[in-house]
Amino acid sequence: MKIICASMDTMDERKIRIDPVSFAEGNGSAHIDMLRLDLLHPVVSGNKWYKLQPNLEAALAQGYTCLLSFGGAYSNHLVATAAAAKAAGLQSVGIVRGTYAQQNLTPTLSDCKQFGMQLEFVSREDYDKKDDPGFLQGLALRYEAYIVPEGGANEAGRSGAAAIARLIPQGYDYVCTAVGTGTTLIGLRNALPEDVQLFGFVPMKGGNYLEATIRQHILPPKDKSWQLTDEFHFGGFGKHNSELLQFMNRFYELNMLPLDVVYTAKMMYGIEQLLQRHYFPPGSKVLCIHSGGLQGNVSVQERLVY
Ligand SMILES: *Cc1c(COP(=O)(O)O)cnc(C)c1O
Repeated sequence: MKIICASMDTMDERKIRIDPVSFAEGNGSAHIDMLRLDLLHPVVSGNKWYKLQPNLEAALAQGYTCLLSFGGAYSNHLVATAAAAKAAGLQSVGIVRGTYAQQNLTPTLSDCKQFGMQLEFVSREDYDKKDDPGFLQGLALRYEAYIVPEGGANEAGRSGAAAIARLIPQGYDYVCTAVGTGTTLIGLRNALPEDVQLFGFVPMKGGNYLEATIRQHILPPKDKSWQLTDEFHFGGFGKHNSELLQFMNRFYELNMLPLDVVYTAKMMYGIEQLLQRHYFPPGSKVLCIHSGGLQGNVSVQERLVY
């Protein structure tokens, strides 16, 4: 894949590495590693960057000068879009869900502005039209913008996520990733060999509904070697409790690895639970993808040791 935004000096794929992971109760006979996409950039989530690359390529090829996308006031995707657009020399517009943050910007939205993004706050009702062709056409005309769907969930996003597979060496039995829209999981599933099991951890309550959407994009024979769990949702998307925060602190003290409270902490908590249930066959090699998201920890910063 051609990297469009390598010009942004802080964005360097060579910073990504694989670190071993251990859990407080031990790993049993499983070997657990983590692919550190979080090292790519302090604010831009690793997987978001990959999903945006082919979108930037398409926008530039089609002569657009502006990128437009959607997200909430804490959206990892929105800030990644702002940063990616800036690095590619494009303008950007963010359509923000809800108007409550308009007067008092969240740190995420401040970062979006720092990257030059123009913010438009819309009611939740209007935001719900984000996939409606008429609504999108209106926005595209008004801003003369290339539109990236929420979460980078389009064909370009899936092909961008597939490029993450290049960073995964052979020999893993399982690859684990956190799931929001499922775009990252789809890209990885289609790019990795069929004998690698892909395990998606959904931080939403009832998140298994995503299975049907994801399945549409995965071709045989790889449709057999992936699964989702929404067991470790901690009350739902963006929700957490002291047990999760304690887990994050314990995990950090053991591994010196920071997790984000929305996605990767719930995944790693889930993996610890699965290890305790002897879910992985003896000797399994498991690679967990650290997809980033650390900018979203501001809301719990004072309760974290890192
Ligand atoms: C967005 C995000 C995800 C989910 O990615 P999808 O491709 O939408 O499934 C996982 N982890 C982090 C840190 C994210 O920001």
